[in-house]
Amino acid sequence: MTHRLVVLGAGYAGLAAAHRAARRLRGADVRITLVNATDRFVERVRLHQLAAGQTLRDLPLRKWVAGAGIDLVVARVTAVDAEARTVRLDAAPHSLSYDTLVYALGSGADDNRVPGVAEHAFTAADADGATRLRAHLATVRSGGVVAVAGGGLTGIEVAAEVAESRPGLRVELYTDGRVGGWLSDRAQQHIRRAFDRLDVRVHEGVRITEVGDRALLLDDGRDREVDALVWSAGFRVPDLAGAAGLAVDGRGRMVVDGTLRSVSHPEVYGVGDAAAALTPAGAESRMSCQVGLPAGLYVADAIASVLSGQQPKPIRVRYFWQNVSLGRRDGVTQFTRADDSPVDRVVTGRTSARFKELITRGTVMTMGNPGPYLPQRRQPTLVGA
Ligand SMILES: Cc1cc2nc3c(=O)[nH]c(=O)nc-3n(C[C@H](O)[C@H](O)[C@H](O)COP(=O)(O)OP(=O)(O)OC[C@H]3O[C@@H](n4cnc5c(N)ncnc54)[C@H](O)[C@@H]3O)c2cc1C
Repeated sequence: MTHRLVVLGAGYAGLAAAHRAARRLRGADVRITLVNATDRFVERVRLHQLAAGQTLRDLPLRKWVAGAGIDLVVARVTAVDAEARTVRLDAAPHSLSYDTLVYALGSGADDNRVPGVAEHAFTAADADGATRLRAHLATVRSGGVVAVAGGGLTGIEVAAEVAESRPGLRVELYTDGRVGGWLSDRAQQHIRRAFDRLDVRVHEGVRITEVGDRALLLDDGRDREVDALVWSAGFRVPDLAGAAGLAVDGRGRMVVDGTLRSVSHPEVYGVGDAAAALTPAGAESRMSCQVGLPAGLYVADAIASVLSGQQPKPIRVRYFWQNVSLGRRDGVTQFTRADDSPVDRVVTGRTSARFKELITRGTVMTMGNPGPYLPQRRQPTLVGA
């Protein structure tokens, strides 16, 4: 009987997994179905550019899966029934049964921890949010205030991009810690210089405690009128895995073993932001396409091994750098140890911006045209899942 492999989510992790699986497994043995909420690949790492008014490339998923041996279903997953091994969808075919499931539904803005954020704030964490933010920013007149919440990678990138694209706006960044506080001193200094150049005003060590219509309340009692607040204070994962009874951690990420298999349901694998892979030191993997894409490739290999009766080697999550863009002509490339901790070496300015652009384009090429990059080794025998 044909084995049914269903991949949920066509982001960096899910699309890589589906493509690699299609190249590793024989179509006569395994039917691969990829489910995604939209028919476009969303380049999330560029959503701050979209929000700032730039035009992104159109990346139709159908073109990318055509002829690859992958059935694409465009529908939103509404539930996973882990006992019946089915997923429910909001559009035809409404239900899909699986023998093996890859859960790769990614993440969105973490907008439910501070009152008023979900109702009043904008986000660049997903395509709809970035599109809404873009439309709103187009209505904000020169001199208007755009506040960005979050001193992490996304907050820094959003603040710099908006400030560069709309120099007439007054961009302010609020963080309860330090901007880029996890980076080396040299990287932090460069970000500060870039923010000075772009006239981004930084408020460190302050927490936003409540958000209203065009207003923020801070933990020091001050309030601030703004024309837009962009919430960039972390990502939150969908609650479908937890609701299905799959083991999840405190943040709702699927708990997986070293081969990215659910610790509660071995026929389910979790990759990308939606699952917490562990580094060799036992730390939770950072939500990033840097981890998601290789994890997607790995999981397809792991499934191919299991289906042919072999035990896959555990994944080795290791890091090389963090690329932070500061508009289109500046950036910081922070080189890291394998465990993601920063070393002293950084590359800044145009060289960093060009490097990041190269990596980002290369990533999309890998996703859309896996041929030259992914080895074609079909698994010969199928012994069941
Ligand atoms: C502005 C910004 C800048 C970033 N910059 C970087 C960077 O420089 N480097 C880096 O490594 N990372 C960066 N990231 C993080 C990176 O984008 C994510 O970590 C990465 O996208 C995760 O990949 P994924 O495949 O797990 O999930 P995603 O890319 O989020 O893909 C998930 C897919 O699942 C689909 N989906 C979700 N729910 C459902 C549902 N219920 N039904 C059907 N489909 C569904 C979505 O439509 C999407 O296609 C950035 C993120 C943002 C927002």
